[in-house]
Amino acid sequence: RLYNEVQDLKGSIRVYCRVRPFLSGQSSQMSTIEHFEEGNIAIRAPSKYGKGLKSFSFNKVFGPSATQAEVFSDMQPLIRSVLDGYNVCIFAYGQTGSGKTYTMSGPKELTEQSQGVNYRSLGDLFCLAEKRRDAFRYDVAVQMIEIYNEQVRDLLNKIRNSSQNGLNVPEASLVPVSSTSDVIHLMNIGQRNRAVGATALNDRSSRSHSCLTVHVQGRNLTNGTTLRGCMHLVDLAGSERVDKSEVTGDRLKEAQHINKSLSALGDVIASLAQKSAHVPYRNSKLTQLLQDSLGGQAKTLMFVHISPEPEAVGETLSTLKFAERVA
Ligand code: ADP
Ligand code: MG
Repeated sequence: RLYNEVQDLKGSIRVYCRVRPFLSGQSSQMSTIEHFEEGNIAIRAPSKYGKGLKSFSFNKVFGPSATQAEVFSDMQPLIRSVLDGYNVCIFAYGQTGSGKTYTMSGPKELTEQSQGVNYRSLGDLFCLAEKRRDAFRYDVAVQMIEIYNEQVRDLLNKIRNSSQNGLNVPEASLVPVSSTSDVIHLMNIGQRNRAVGATALNDRSSRSHSCLTVHVQGRNLTNGTTLRGCMHLVDLAGSERVDKSEVTGDRLKEAQHINKSLSALGDVIASLAQKSAHVPYRNSKLTQLLQDSLGGQAKTLMFVHISPEPEAVGETLSTLKFAERVA
């Protein structure tokens, strides 16, 4: 049923909200989430944010005890549509520490159960391709890039560092893969290369967007036609606002680039959702790179992440407002 549902929604945009659990070792405190069910969530806002309950609606809400398998469970139609020749974008949005990387990749100590969306999507992709082997021959290749301060870095090439103008995704190394373990290997290389750009004092991962792109080319064995689809799995930079009176120099520049690119992404998705005639793709590197995969027949899934702690409530509300605008 879900398969047909998504098939019918050409160019669909879905928004899922995920709440991170309190982490072990965190002192016990009251969650700002008053309640959640199916597609609704209510946040208890303190007076600073207009005291009272703020309610939001999305396609789905995953509470703090949702497993990785549950979060992935209705994504199969998206994977299928990549093999059918559609483009798909999956984003993880939220403040630093809210669980974006957990959703996309998993925790540091990865087990099969804790594998995130990236691993599960690729697993499903290869599995479905195999099931269709009598009818189609699929070639799969991946790219991994990072966007930092509006510059693109190829994570699968030996640190071909961004030139003045950065790099276009079409130029980023395209590596053929034939199994999930090939991809896991490449993701580890990409992660290591990502760390090389950072210094001990400057973990860049929360201030850059990372994007794993899976290109699929399928040849129909009966009539010889080919189709192409791709899937972009994007772990976005942390959405937290920084206090401009407290940061200067590089930190301020990073913050401004992040602000600009996240709001450009929000603008693009919101104007697609409203079916407006003009979609402002040109306002950031990220939206420029993903232009062919946002809008048209493409499908977008945005996971927005929130933290349960009272001190995060300001960011939680601004994340939910962002999400509501693109839903
Ligand atoms: P982000 O990428 O948004 O900065 P992380 O994914 O790194 O956040 O999550 C922050 C911490 O919370 C990590 O230690 C991560 O393993 C843990 N965490 C996040 N989401 C969950 C979850 N759903 N269940 C258990 N632990 C989680
Ligand atoms: Mg992260």
